[in-house]
Amino acid sequence: MKVETVGVVGAGTMGHGIAQAFAVNGFTVHMVDVSDEALRRGVAAIQKSLERLVSKDKLSAADRDAALQRISTATALDSLADCDIVVEAATEKEALKLDIFRHLGEICRDDAILASNTSSISLTRIAAATPKPERVIGMHFFNPVAVMKLVEVVGALQTGDTTFRAVEELARKVGKEPVPVKDSPGFVANRILVPMINEAVFVYAEGLASAENIDTVMKLGANHPIGPLALADMIGLDVCLEVMKVLHDGLGDPKYRPAPLLQQMVDAGYLGRKSGKGFYNYD
Ligand code: NAD
Repeated sequence: MKVETVGVVGAGTMGHGIAQAFAVNGFTVHMVDVSDEALRRGVAAIQKSLERLVSKDKLSAADRDAALQRISTATALDSLADCDIVVEAATEKEALKLDIFRHLGEICRDDAILASNTSSISLTRIAAATPKPERVIGMHFFNPVAVMKLVEVVGALQTGDTTFRAVEELARKVGKEPVPVKDSPGFVANRILVPMINEAVFVYAEGLASAENIDTVMKLGANHPIGPLALADMIGLDVCLEVMKVLHDGLGDPKYRPAPLLQQMVDAGYLGRKSGKGFYNYD
C-alpha cells in the first residue's frame, strides 16, 4: 500500500511530534485540532524542534523548510478525507476517540488506514465504531517522538494482516522500530511502566522520600535514564491517571487503583511540564 498523505488528529504533545516525524521523512501531513491555539503551539514546537536539529547539524536548513512546508493545519476533521492514513493523537478519552473514529469512518476512503496513538484504550472497541474495522490499528509512538525509537503496533481483534504489515513498514519509514503487540489494556509498555509511576506517587504521598530522591533511587538503583516522577511530569499526569483508570477498569484488579494524590494533582490542574507544574516546577 502506498502512503503519501498522513492525517494527524491532535496537535498536543504527541500529535505535533508525530506530524514532525512524518513531515521530516517526506510525507505530506495534515494536522487537525479542535483548538486553534493548540495548532499554533504545535507548529511552534515543531519549528523549535527542527531548529534544534539544524543547530546540531542533523538536518539541513533546506530540509527543515521543506518539512515545514509539507505540514498544513485545520480545525475540521473533514480536511482529512483524502489521507492514506490518519493517526489519531487526541485527548485520551474513550468517548471522544469513538466520536473521532465514527467521523473518520464516514469521511475517509475505504482503503485508508485509521490508526490511534492511544496509550491504553481498547483498539477493538475503537475499530468496532468504524465501517472498516480491519483497517483500524494502534500505532503507539512514545514521548518525545523525535527521540524514542519504539512504535507498538497494536492489533485489534479485527485488524487485517495487510493493515498490520503496512503500518509496520510505515513505522520503519519514519525511523522507528515497530513491535507487534495484541490489544489489551495498556498494551505492553504502559501495562508495566505506568503502574510503576503510580507506585512512585504512592511512595511520594507516604512521605518515604522527596520527589528528587525517589527519582535518584530509580536512576542510580535501577539504571533508569529518568526517574518515575520526572517521567510522569513529561508524559502528563492526566495521561498517567487515564491509563491507570483503564488498567483498573479493564483488568479489574485492585492493584491498578490510581494513587489518590495523582487524581488530586490532576484535579488541581498540576499536569506536569505542559501546565508548568507537576512533581517539579517548570517556570
Ligand atoms: P495533549 O493533551 O498534549 O494533546 C491532545 C490534543 O488533542 C489537544 O491539543 C486537544 O485540543 C486535542 N483534541 C481534543 N479533542 C479533539 C478532537 N475532537 N479533535 C481534534 N483534536 C482534539 O495529549 P497527548 O499527550 O499528546 O496525548 C494524545 C494521545 O497520545 C493520547 O491518546 C495519549 O494517550 C497518547 N500518548 C501520549 C503519550 C505521552 O507521553 N503524552 C505517549 C504515547 C501516547
